[in-house]
Order: sequence, then structure tokens, then C-alpha cells
Amino acid sequence: MSQIKLLPDEVASQVAAGEVVERPASVVKELVENSIDAGASRIEVAIAQGGMSVIRVVDNGIGMDRDDALLSLERHATSKIRSGLDLARICTLGFRGEALPSIASVCRFQMATRTHQAVEGTEILVNGGKIDSVQASGEAPGTLIEARSLFYNLPARRKFLRSDNTETSHVQHQLLLQAIGHPSIGFVFVRDRDLVFQAPPTKSLADRIRDLRGAEFLEQLLEVQFEPREGLRLSGFIGRAGVSRSTKAEQVIFVNGRLVDNITMQHGLREGYHTALMKGQYPITFLFIEIDPETVDVNVHPAKREVRFHEPDKIRDAVAQAVQRTLESDRGRWSQVFQKPAKPVPDRVLPQPVRVPQAEQSVLRKERIEFQALSTESRTPVPPINSLPVHSASIDPVPVDPIPESPWVPPADTSEVSPEHQFKIIGILGKLYILMENEQGLVLVDQHAAHERILFEQLRSQMESEGVPTQRLLIPLTVQVTPKDYDWITINAEALEKMGFILEPFGDSTLKIDGIPQFFRSDDPALAVRHLVDELRSMTTTTSRLRMGEDVIAKTVCRHAIKANDQLRFPEIERLIKDLLACELPYCCPHGRPTMIQMGYSELEKKFGRKV
Ligand code: ADP
Ligand code: MG
Repeated sequence: MSQIKLLPDEVASQVAAGEVVERPASVVKELVENSIDAGASRIEVAIAQGGMSVIRVVDNGIGMDRDDALLSLERHATSKIRSGLDLARICTLGFRGEALPSIASVCRFQMATRTHQAVEGTEILVNGGKIDSVQASGEAPGTLIEARSLFYNLPARRKFLRSDNTETSHVQHQLLLQAIGHPSIGFVFVRDRDLVFQAPPTKSLADRIRDLRGAEFLEQLLEVQFEPREGLRLSGFIGRAGVSRSTKAEQVIFVNGRLVDNITMQHGLREGYHTALMKGQYPITFLFIEIDPETVDVNVHPAKREVRFHEPDKIRDAVAQAVQRTLESDRGRWSQVFQKPAKPVPDRVLPQPVRVPQAEQSVLRKERIEFQALSTESRTPVPPINSLPVHSASIDPVPVDPIPESPWVPPADTSEVSPEHQFKIIGILGKLYILMENEQGLVLVDQHAAHERILFEQLRSQMESEGVPTQRLLIPLTVQVTPKDYDWITINAEALEKMGFILEPFGDSTLKIDGIPQFFRSDDPALAVRHLVDELRSMTTTTSRLRMGEDVIAKTVCRHAIKANDQLRFPEIERLIKDLLACELPYCCPHGRPTMIQMGYSELEKKFGRKV
């Protein structure tokens, strides 16, 4: 007797549901995606008990007639593709015809739907996958779908559901993302009869983000506009340098309107942010990629969360470039904010103004012109880092010798502040933070982080031009490495040389170290080289070769930058600030930590209770 039997339809649907319907949030995702595909301009979602007792999605989309409504509950019934060929150019969010039958098989399901032309609608009740009743109904055009008692017939699944609050927060997160992805659709979210949020339809993504997250949040973001070639467009918003999160929750990417999780693009983001992101942190991104649908496969994941690009490297590069340009374009704004003159405040006792010597002034004037040139440029795409002019001020490093006996004393000169010198240095706090005054209030600069950024950019520009100066070892060292490392080093010898490492194959997995970068001070160069190779190798899977040198530098500048307790003289502080403002990314150190913090008057006033 045959051992193999076809599963009854309901069971087959439950099996399929196991992949598609994980929890209330996945039901909401599928239903909302259907509403979006149906051209709705308003979608209302209501849940009770975290969606475990009720999930209701109502839209004003095209609706279905009676036959379609019945068909939509069959497995593999879809209006979105017709043939296998269509699978290669999907423009809708759904395409498998699986969601409705799957959902209907694991709950008490109700659908009420009506097309805009019809005089009456259709209402269908389904119980655990079996149709209970079909009747005419009289609701507004559009579709209502209600899923009650989710997983009532799958106790094993139900056990995995979390608390009401946890499930609600998953649903809410899912909806917020869909709302960000589709600003022209109005969204309403109700939980246990309380309105949680309401987002009116809008033309602009900025408005949608402001409506959902507030103006302050939007302030932290930069707009992306990048079209590297026909058939590929990147837009949206990303967090400014130094703005990050400890989870991926706000690293949001849409590909042709579909929310996706894609490793290629995550690498692109990381590479684009690079030194502007702290280790272990994730950027905030609301990135939209529009790409020819024929060059991306969306049919790879049960919940359609993943996509595969035909040319992943190109997409990754485009993402990295878009991020890099956007971050650089922010520089003009920063330098303006930080260099705006302090407001004259007649009632307050002002610190001694700073006199800028004549020779310094000319340098400053030159730099301001360069700043202005850059900030106008920033509206059009900014050239990549290596084609930007190197600022003369950032070439000679800040003298770092500490002067223990003489902490900084403002020069006793009362002449006016030079108009070019737009920041006023007030003093130093805790031998680490430089206090400055600008138009908006107080600016704090971390002298160590600032110096790291300056050194980093100096070395990087050297590496990109003539190469980092090498310090030849008097007696060359040899180091034994694994065969894999050996191959890797041989392949990358040229790049390593630009970074100042002169390594020669010595046969039998042995390397000869002839020279190391001048900035690279180490008691045991052989061990240091070995560690470095380990680290670089693990990084190059996620980082391009171009960025490899930057990693070496970022890792080492920290040791050479001025430290928290190094006391600087006034001209040194001034120089440090000036060099910092001339950097490409002045606002964060090469590890992504901020270099400067602005504490505005309004914040101070709030803290002192002068303003609520
Ligand atoms: P898919 O979205 O992959 O086509 P679904 O099972 O989610 O599969 O839906 C099946 C079909 O039901 C859809 O192709 C669509 O024609 C119809 N449908 C589902 N939801 C709606 C809705 N909210 N409004 C109009 N039609 C819908
Ligand atoms: Mg669908």
C-alpha cells in the first residue's frame, strides 16, 4: 500500500502558514501589504491583546467581487502574476497567493470586501481554513479583514507568542515601517480601542518622519539623493555622522517599496559610514532604492524579507557612495554652526576676547573661503574624499608636548575678535573638554577625539597620495604566518606598502618585515603585524580594500593623539579647533564617537527652569 498521501488543503495551508505567519506582526504585515497592492490611500489597523485575540485591517483599496473574494482564499491564487516570466519582474509586494489562505487556516477569519462599482459587497467567514458562510454585505468600498483567536487551532504556535505588550510593539514597529515606506498612504493604528498613532497622507517622506517621530528626530537625519545610473536611484534619509543605535531596528531599507533585510546593503551602509559609526552600533537609515525589477529577485524568502541582486557589488558600492556623499555634504552646515559668531550678550560678563595674530588670520581667511566653496558644492554631489583639496592647516599636526606647569591662560589683550575667527574659546574643563562659545550657546570639544580625527585624515590623505612614510627597520624581522595569511599578504602587498608596511615573502610561510609605518610605534613589530593581518583579514570580508588602510590608521591614531590629561597651550587649542573644522568629517572621531557637542541656550534655559 502506498505510504505517501496528499495532505488535505487545510493542513497544507497550516504548513505554509508556519512559514508566513509567525506572530501577529506578520499577519499585519501581509494584510497591510495587500492593502498597499490594492491601491489603498487609507489603511486602518486595530488589534486587541497584542493581536492575539483580534487583528483587523480595513482599507479603501480596489476591493474584490464575490468570485475573486472566494478565489483569494485558495492557495496559490493571486491577481499579481500570471506566469513564471512575471516572477522575474515583480512590482507588487505580494506575488505568491499564499498569505490569505495561510492566515485563514490559523484563526477565525472574516473578510468583507466590495469593489467601487458594486452595489453590494461580499462577506466570507472562515474557521480554521474551512469556509463557514458567504453572504452579501453592505460595507463601504474596499476590504476589511479580521483575524480572531490567532493560532487557536495550533497550540504549539500559540505557546511561542509573547506578552501582549511585546506582540503589540512588534505590530507597531511593522506599521511604522510600512508608514515610512509609503508616505502617500494614511495610516491609523488602534490598540485595544485607544488610538496609538495616526499618520495623514503626505507627499513627502520628511513630513511622514516628522509626523511619526517628531521634528527633533528628523533634525538628526540627512537627505539622500543619488542616482549613479539609469535604472538605479537611492533616496530617503540617513542619520548624521555619530548618530547611531545599538540595534538594527532603525536600519530600514526599501527596495522598490518593499521592506527588506539584505546583507549586501548592510555592508554598503557600514562601508559608507565607516569611521562615522561606532563599533557595534548601527546607523539610522530610511533608505529607498529604486531599481529595475528585472535585476532583483524577490522570490527568495518565505516572508519575502530578503532579496537578491543580480549585481550585488554594484548595489553595495552605490549604497556606500550615497552614504559617504551625504555625510560629507553635511560638513558645510556643521562648520557654519560651529563658526557662527557668539551673540553679543550685553548683560553677561564676557570672557576675554581672543586676539588672532596677523599671520594666523591669513590662514583662517583662506580656510573660510574653502569652507564656503565646499558648502555651496555640497548641494550638488560632493566629490569623493580623495579628490577634495587637502587643507594646508591639517598637514602639520598639533604639537602634542604637554606643559604641566602652565595651564592655558587667555592672552591679556582686549582687542576685538577677528571677524574670521568665529568661535570663542572659553577654557578647558577637566583637562579634556575645550569649552567654546558660538551663536547657539556652548560648544564642548573632546580634545582627544578631535585630535584623532585630525591625525586620521592627515594620514589618510598621505596614504592616498604618496603613501604613508615608512620607518625602515635596522634589522629586518621575520614572522611566520599561516599559509592563508601568507597568500593574503602577498596579494595585498601593494596596498600594505601604501600604508607604510614593507613586507617581503621569505618562502615557507615566512615574511620579512623591512619597514613599518612611521606612526606605528610598537615594541614588537612582528607581533603587531600578525595581529594586524588577523584583524584586516576578518574585516576585508565586509570592508573593501580601499577602506582597509583607513582601518589600520583608525586603529593606531588613538595611541598617538593627545590624551585627556595633556594640557594644551592656547595657540595649540586654537590650532586644534581650526584643524578640526578643516576636516572632511569634523564631527566624529575615526571610531564614530562625537568630537563636539553643542549645548544650546535653549537647552540651558530649560535646565535652569527659565523655560519649560
Ligand atoms: P498575494 O498578495 O501574493 O497575491 P494573498 O494571499 O495575499 O496573495 O492575496 C490573494 C489575492 O487576494 C491578491 O492577489 C489580491 O488579488 C486579493 N487581495 C488580497 N487582499 C486584498 C485587499 N486588501 N484588497 C483587494 N484585493 C485583495
Ligand atoms: Mg499578499
